[in-house]
Amino acid sequence: RPRKRFGQHFLASPGVIHKIVEVIRPRRSDPMLEIGPGQGALTRALLPHLDVLQVVELDRDLIPGLVALRDASASRLEIHAGDALAFDYAGLARTLDQPLRVVGNLPYNISTPLIFHLLDAGAWIRDMHFMLQKEVVDRLAARPGGRDYGRLSVMVQVACEVHSLFEVPPGAFNPPPKVDSAVVRLVRRETPLVPAGLQNEFARLVSAAFASRRKTLSNNLKGLLDAAAIKQCGVDPGARAETLDVEAFVRLAQRFHPD
Ligand code: SAM
Repeated sequence: RPRKRFGQHFLASPGVIHKIVEVIRPRRSDPMLEIGPGQGALTRALLPHLDVLQVVELDRDLIPGLVALRDASASRLEIHAGDALAFDYAGLARTLDQPLRVVGNLPYNISTPLIFHLLDAGAWIRDMHFMLQKEVVDRLAARPGGRDYGRLSVMVQVACEVHSLFEVPPGAFNPPPKVDSAVVRLVRRETPLVPAGLQNEFARLVSAAFASRRKTLSNNLKGLLDAAAIKQCGVDPGARAETLDVEAFVRLAQRFHPD
């Protein structure tokens, strides 16, 4: 029986599963890792395309089913029983000696912290394909100026190119979630827009800039960056954070020397 606590909504539409595999375009030697394989709906469809598939699943009750799938498969399935939020993605990629491709129909309750944790693995992740709440995909892909554009959009877009791929209705899952879903592709940028060494400043600045959406940039950045410095970055101190593109945040971060 699906468990709410683990955000379990199992894919039940062969058409949608096929479409996900198609957009992932797996190649045999790809270092693929699936988060939350569950009962294996996507796992089973991916396995025939791959030499090896790594999976990370938290619910111990689902592990025997995955072991059975492994034993019945010609490809290798490597099962990691544990929490995707604590998984060492960079460590695994280092062992495999190549950046991972990460996929998953994610548990929606942990999708944002999970994406942030994955971004911490930096260049050890090549790309990610996720099924998410549509609202989260809209925020990931949002351009400046709109309601959906915020900290999540900036933090992800500075590291990745974001492509919203297609929507999936609740009826494609068992049990159906209360929200619409969508599949998104995140491709790690070869050259990050934030120089290494400036990442902490960037994260702090973006959090502060969006702290209160109704306030102007200079109000939100009080004590961190004064109006003159904001102006020198070619940014209007009276503007709101949601109107700034990612490059403007990078320029501001370069000016920002906390402590
Ligand atoms: N991939 C399956 C499918 O499409 O049918 C299941 C998707 S279901 C939305 C999310 C899966 O993630 C469940 O199997 C759940 O047990 C697992 N899960 C939940 N929290 C997790 C965590 N922190 N780490 C790893 N897996 C988790």
